Amino acid sequence: MRAVRRTRNLSRRLLAANAVSCVRRSSTAATTTTIKPLTSILIANRGEIALRVGRTASEYGIRTTTLYTDPDAHSQHALSSPYAINLGEPSAYLDGDRIIQIAKEQGCQGIHPGYGFLSENPTFARKCTEAGLTFIGPPSSAIEAMGSKSESKNIMNAAGVPCIPGYHGSNQDPEHLKNEAAKIGYPVLLKAVKGGGGKGMRIVNSPEEFYDQLASAKSEARNSFGDEVMLVEKYITTPRHIEVQVFADKHGNCVALGERDCSIQRRHQKILEESPAPHLKEEIRQDIWEKARAAALAVGYEGAGTVEFIFDNDTGEFFFMEMNTRLQVEHPVTEMVTGEDLVRWQLIVAEGGRLPLTQEQIEQRIKERGAAIEARIYAENPDMNFIPDSGRLIHLRTPRPTDTVRIDAGFVAGDEVSSHYDPMIAKLIVQGPTREAAIQKLRAALEEYEVAGPITNIEFLKRCCTSPDFVAGKVETGYIQKHPELFAREPWAPEVYAQAALGLALQEIQSARSDPFSAPPVTAVGFGTGYQQREFNLVEIPADGKGDDTSTSVKVRQTAPFRFDITVGDKEYRDVTSTLDSSNNLSSFYPHTRLSTTFIRDEDRLTLFQQGKQYRLQVAMPKWAEKALGIKDVTNSVLAPMPCKILRVEVAEGDAVKKDQPLVVIESMKMETVIRSPHDGVIAKVVHKKGDLCKAGTALVEFVEEEK
Ligand code: ADP
Ligand code: ADP
Ligand code: MG
Repeated sequence: MRAVRRTRNLSRRLLAANAVSCVRRSSTAATTTTIKPLTSILIANRGEIALRVGRTASEYGIRTTTLYTDPDAHSQHALSSPYAINLGEPSAYLDGDRIIQIAKEQGCQGIHPGYGFLSENPTFARKCTEAGLTFIGPPSSAIEAMGSKSESKNIMNAAGVPCIPGYHGSNQDPEHLKNEAAKIGYPVLLKAVKGGGGKGMRIVNSPEEFYDQLASAKSEARNSFGDEVMLVEKYITTPRHIEVQVFADKHGNCVALGERDCSIQRRHQKILEESPAPHLKEEIRQDIWEKARAAALAVGYEGAGTVEFIFDNDTGEFFFMEMNTRLQVEHPVTEMVTGEDLVRWQLIVAEGGRLPLTQEQIEQRIKERGAAIEARIYAENPDMNFIPDSGRLIHLRTPRPTDTVRIDAGFVAGDEVSSHYDPMIAKLIVQGPTREAAIQKLRAALEEYEVAGPITNIEFLKRCCTSPDFVAGKVETGYIQKHPELFAREPWAPEVYAQAALGLALQEIQSARSDPFSAPPVTAVGFGTGYQQREFNLVEIPADGKGDDTSTSVKVRQTAPFRFDITVGDKEYRDVTSTLDSSNNLSSFYPHTRLSTTFIRDEDRLTLFQQGKQYRLQVAMPKWAEKALGIKDVTNSVLAPMPCKILRVEVAEGDAVKKDQPLVVIESMKMETVIRSPHDGVIAKVVHKKGDLCKAGTALVEFVEEEK
């Protein structure tokens, strides 16, 4: 009862704060603001965000111009509008001046920057305004104020918003920074003042590792943001990431559209985001909303913004971390729990209109609409430290969108996930009456999500949905490291191999029928040309790139059209009827069960989707064929795990190296990765030098062959 009353009092205080801000700012703002409807805009971004913004714009009859680059020429966002301009080289999305020029030539009235690229660039925002274009975002002064993680903290301190203890000053002398770290007390976090996307950040656990971590954070910051100024702050050991979506108009109104918990992160980057934050006391929730609005008001904010807080699970305190002065990747979570279209809100604010809802109305909505959760689907390998992947999406099947299941994607089947850009394939957002229901729905939807081509984090996300502590709402930013069960793999049922072999056999039968002269491929041993019996050697593709390469032999004997006897190891299945249709559906009736599998083949690689799980296999060459073709294994080399650029080579020919010693530092998808030595050994050859571009699977370093 008391809690309820306190909440009401707080809400009243919030409303009062709102009214005060109205009075404070309306005298200047309201009189000068007139509604200026937008009829055409340019979207200065790519991928799902460009499509997302385009969707709302089109819905309200606003003409959109989209931009693309050479690698994006056939991408969905480039195809989404009849007005699409080619910028050429991959980095051209960052060329603000040229984009402004194009907007003017195309007769656009405004520019929507999306997120990433130019969205938090105050110079770009200012130049838009100077060119007579409406920048659909906050005033450049607000971006500027919040753009620096150090400057913004000074403003927040002054506005009474709590900040993490730390050093945000300009003295960048390493020794001085180290002294500050000692004052704060270890562990500390080093952060690039201009940072974003989890880059340029390092945890320092003890004074001994301070200089190494500083060098590493600086190098990443320099490469990513062209600036290496660092701040040092207290590292909270069991934190949660809780952020508040705020919105302000030009009339002095500012509201909080609830909070999002984004604690499930890898590499300091979010992969699951949800609202409301689980187990957050109501008075803290109200307080955090109020502080978020205070933060926005302190910089004269307009439009959509997110105030990020770090919440200390041990003490219940929360601290301002940064403000993102743009719409965020995870905004659909808030759209789901409020039932509002935030891009529409952005357009209304940019046109000079008033916020569509009051704080009270928003609270009511949130109470009624329950919970929402978003999973970011990335082309990346969780078993190899979430290393990004790229390549063609040879198969893509999504769950059916409904009112409560939403997919924001930038790709369709056949598209290329380019190594030039962020490896996010899609966002899957679900809503349910309770958090439990939302998680169940998310898992169900993930089980229907099929992606073949690049490796994805979908299997990992499914395991998150059943991880007991996550289900119980016991989240923290270190969750993934602390829950090894998220990386556990179960052994495969023999039916997986049986289905794979049946798929291969049926494909061969079909192609033999359409081309009677085709010889059976070298990947299998056949008896005669009638395909009575075939043997396939199948190898599980080890996600961690290690594993063993023992293959499973599967014998398939055709006994009648579409009828087979199958042997997997010591298991035998008789009289299995099986068909493969043109949509890759492989349907088999075993004596004990029926299996419906999506069977995808890409040369010697197979991807199967069966009973809500993905299986990746390789058709191994029989040993005799390997010998005949003189194929040698390359276990003596370290290979590039993905297409990349060589940033640094850390070893030279003749060097003796220890296991885990850095060999080469590569960059891919805007991320730096250190390639470490898999074992002790001596370097025979450094194959690539700094600046080289390498394909996945290229040898980077070769070792001297061990004497046997
Ligand atoms: P959020 O919007 O929730 O903060 P992230 O920080 O994970 O989400 O992702 C958005 C950030 O990622 C942007 O601030 C931007 O710096 C970076 N980013 C995303 N896509 C790209 C891209 N294609 N190129 C460069 N930076 C990008
Ligand atoms: P970015 O601009 O890259 O998003 P943030 O400052 O928002 O950087 O931090 C990103 C993430 O790093 C947070 O979500 C949180 O998980 C972690 N983090 C940031 N600051 C701290 C801190 N002081 N202590 C512990 N973790 C932190
Ligand atoms: Mg952040």
